[in-house]
Amino acid sequence: MGARERVVSLAALREGEAARMDAACIRCGACFAACPMVPFSAAKDADPVGAVVGVLDLLAGGAGDEASRAWTAACTRTGSCNEACPAGVDPRLMLRLAKWRGSETGALPKRDARDAMARAKVFARLGMSEEEQARWL
Ligand code: SF4
Repeated sequence: MGARERVVSLAALREGEAARMDAACIRCGACFAACPMVPFSAAKDADPVGAVVGVLDLLAGGAGDEASRAWTAACTRTGSCNEACPAGVDPRLMLRLAKWRGSETGALPKRDARDAMARAKVFARLGMSEEEQARWL
């Protein structure tokens, strides 16, 4: 096999990982339930299984749903999801790849100043009382 034949595109690697994740995931929702960012995001009241199904849809090139998009946007890669996953899916990577795919398809906005502000608000909520959040955010 020549060097040229061994070249694999990043998109092909992502597709392979997406297929592996889709097959391995048992849709239990444990990753969503373990995520410390969810309570501070617009996905806080969402059904865990529905949010995971939405992320897998984003990963496959679909539009996902509101909860999956909010969860994906709020991810800060803590890795709590990976510790909770019983199936070795690597949900931290799943969210990262879903974000990448979603920004390509237009399901998620490309990173810009508005995205940065939403992230800043999520971080700010971590250290603020409910009264401070109501006053400042
Ligand atoms: S914890 Fe793992 S198996 Fe369960 S929904 Fe999340 S990625 Fe899928």
